[in-house]
Amino acid sequence: MNIAVILDADIADFYVQAGQINRFLQLSELSAESLELWLFSRETPQSLPRLEGKLGQIRWVAASRLAEVRLAVLEQMQQAFAPQLLLFAGDEGGELATRLACRSAGAACCAVEQAQVSADQCRVTKATYSNHLSAELMMARAPWCLSVARNGVASAEILPGPVFVERFQPAELPEAPWVLASTSAPAQQVSPLNQARYVLAIGEGAGSIQNVAHLQQLATRLGAELAASRPVVMNAWCEMDRLLGMSGAIIAPEVCIAAGASGAPAFIMGIRHSKLIVAVNQDPQAAIFAQADVGIVGDMHEVLEALANVL
Ligand SMILES: Cc1cc2nc3c(=O)[nH]c(=O)nc-3n(C[C@H](O)[C@H](O)[C@H](O)COP(=O)(O)OP(=O)(O)OC[C@H]3O[C@@H](n4cnc5c(N)ncnc54)[C@H](O)[C@@H]3O)c2cc1C
Repeated sequence: MNIAVILDADIADFYVQAGQINRFLQLSELSAESLELWLFSRETPQSLPRLEGKLGQIRWVAASRLAEVRLAVLEQMQQAFAPQLLLFAGDEGGELATRLACRSAGAACCAVEQAQVSADQCRVTKATYSNHLSAELMMARAPWCLSVARNGVASAEILPGPVFVERFQPAELPEAPWVLASTSAPAQQVSPLNQARYVLAIGEGAGSIQNVAHLQQLATRLGAELAASRPVVMNAWCEMDRLLGMSGAIIAPEVCIAAGASGAPAFIMGIRHSKLIVAVNQDPQAAIFAQADVGIVGDMHEVLEALANVL
C-alpha cells in the first residue's frame, strides 16, 4: 500500500505532529509499509523527522498556507502519485483531509487513533462524544484521507545525515477569487506540558486561587509542571496554557499526579497516555480512580504536602 504523510515544515510543532503520525503508524501496525513524505515548506528542508515506516520519496512543495492553494497542490499530487492512504495531523490537517477526500471522491475521518487497512476498506477507531465512547467506523472509498489524533507522544527524532528531497512543482494553481483577504494566526508554541516528565494535574478540588499558588510551589518542590482541569482555568486560578484534556494539552509524562479532579472523560483524554497515574481524591467513588494506577483517598492538600516533604 502507498501511504503519503503530509506535514508542514514551517510550523512550530512540526516534529510533534510527526510524532503523532508515528504513534498512529505504530498502533495501526503500518510501520512495514512504504511511505512518501510530502512537505509544505518555504525552502528546501534541511532536516526531517524520522518516520515509522519505509520512507521512500520525500517531496517538498512551496505553497502559501491558504487552504485553497494547498488543496489544489494536494489534488495534483494525489493524481500524480496515487497514494491510497493520506495522513495529516493538526487542525489544519483535519480540514485538508476532509476537503481533499471530497474533491478526490474518497473518504475522510478526523482525529483517528488507529486504523486497519485492507485492499478495499479502511476501519478506523476514534474517540467520540467528548471521549465518552470509542467508535469504530468503516470507510469504503479510497483514497482514505485521515487526520491523526493528538496523543501526547514525544516529538519525532530528527533524521540524521543529509536528506534527499525532490521538489514538486505544481501546475498553475487556480485562483480563489472568493478569498478576499487572509491572515495567518500567530504560530502556536509547543506547550511546556508536552515536554514534562512529571506533572501535577489539579482539578476544581484545589478550591481557590490562593491554594493554586501554593500548589504551584509544591509542584516546583516535586520537580513537576503544574497542569489543570477546565474549571481551574475557567476560574482564572491559573493560566490557560496549563489546561489538560480534550480542549487543552494531551500529555504522556512518566508520572502524572491528578489531584482534586473527578475524572471526567474530557479531562482523562489529556492524561491517559501517562506512564503512571496517581489519583488523589477525597471521594472514594470518584471516576478518576478507575483510570489510575495508584489511588489515594484523602484531602489533596494534605497528601501533596506530605509527598513534597518526603521527596
Ligand atoms: C465539549 C467539552 C470539552 C471539555 N474539555 C475539557 C478539557 O479539555 N479539560 C477538562 O478538564 N475538562 C473539560 N471539559 C469539562 C469536563 O467535562 C469536566 O466538567 C471537568 O473536567 C471537571 O473538572 P474537575 O474534575 O476539576 O472538577 P469536578 O468534576 O468538580 O471535580 C472535582 C473533584 O475534586 C474532588 N475534591 C474536592 N475537594 C477535594 C480535596 N480537598 N481533596 C481531594 N479531592 C477533592 C471532588 O471529590 C471531585 O471529584 C469539557 C467539557 C465539554 C462539554
